[in-house]
Amino acid sequence: MVKYKIEFEKDKCIGARSCNDKCSSNWEMKEDGKSEYKIEEFDDDQLECNMNAAKACPVKAIHIINQENKEKLI
Ligand code: SF4
Repeated sequence: MVKYKIEFEKDKCIGARSCNDKCSSNWEMKEDGKSEYKIEEFDDDQLECNMNAAKACPVKAIHIINQENKEKLI
């Protein structure tokens, strides 16, 4: 099983771009002015990048779940 999963509350996104600035390998801005992830599930090698994106989001729209124990990391 892939270890982590993103839960993205896209309706909350205000297009601040912070996630894109912090983790452009997995977050990109779309034509609607909102962000979107490229990959929903990932392993340890991409955790730091996605955590930085989630921490930077001013409206806390990005959440990361550990799928092994269902812990919500952010
Ligand atoms: S940082 Fe948050 S509000 Fe800004 S684009 Fe990313 S998800 Fe949207």
